[in-house]
Amino acid sequence: MRIANHNSRAVLLTSEEAGVDIHAASEGRFGPDLPSLYNDWEAFAAWANGFTSPGDDVVINRAQLGSPSPAPRQIFAIGLNYSEHAKESGFDAPEQLPPVFTKFVSALTGPDTTVELPDGGNTDWEVELVAVIGKTASNVPAAEAWAHVAGLSVGQDLSERISQLRGPAPQFGLGKSFAGFAPVGPWLVTPDEFEDPDDLELGCSLDGEELQKGRTSDLIFSIPALIQGLSETVTLLPGDIIFTGTPAGVGVGRSPQRFIRPGETLISRIEGIGEITQTFVSAAQ
Ligand code: ZN
Repeated sequence: MRIANHNSRAVLLTSEEAGVDIHAASEGRFGPDLPSLYNDWEAFAAWANGFTSPGDDVVINRAQLGSPSPAPRQIFAIGLNYSEHAKESGFDAPEQLPPVFTKFVSALTGPDTTVELPDGGNTDWEVELVAVIGKTASNVPAAEAWAHVAGLSVGQDLSERISQLRGPAPQFGLGKSFAGFAPVGPWLVTPDEFEDPDDLELGCSLDGEELQKGRTSDLIFSIPALIQGLSETVTLLPGDIIFTGTPAGVGVGRSPQRFIRPGETLISRIEGIGEITQTFVSAAQ
């Protein structure tokens, strides 16, 4: 199934244009918003699998879509998780769990947005598969990891490279957490919807020019491996978001380097999920 955060309410989609309000359809048992759905995910999924829609009561307006998990308690992001991207970044591919950092939750938005470019910054693109946790995970082996995932979505790990890389040691959290730097959407797709949820094509283009194209089967640490590795240290909570890493083709790894300019439009897409669109403007003076 596909679930949208539409107007801050959980909607079970019947197409990309319409769906059913989950709170109304379940007679108040689930929802009304996405966070309450994740807190009771297993019961909700069981109900939804047996649910037959009496007819759509919501028309989807993309401008009203929010992040499929709008209030995660934790956002994890993974660096250097595709070998070609590690190479273009000047690092060896990781053998242990790759670098883990956070994108602060205030940077999180829905799928279609206008983003202000930080003044004097070098803002870069990183299309990423995003996983949303549906069940508390602590010390979960990889073989059981998918059962802890509510679903998948498209994310952009927008990154301002000057503040990310300056100083005595690189820091990722702030350079990747400017306002609007964590768009996610357009909706959540449950893992059972994919023929193989570990092998999806993803990519992005800027003003129509393709910049990144890869497959999630090339992830060095797959979603199950990430959940196993992360949950050895931290407890993953329902609604938590994991940005799983980006394939090759980012601007900082190009020769010459290239960054996003005001007026440009970035479209990021993943097979079987959909696309998200960011348009960039200069910082307000
Ligand atoms: Zn990233």
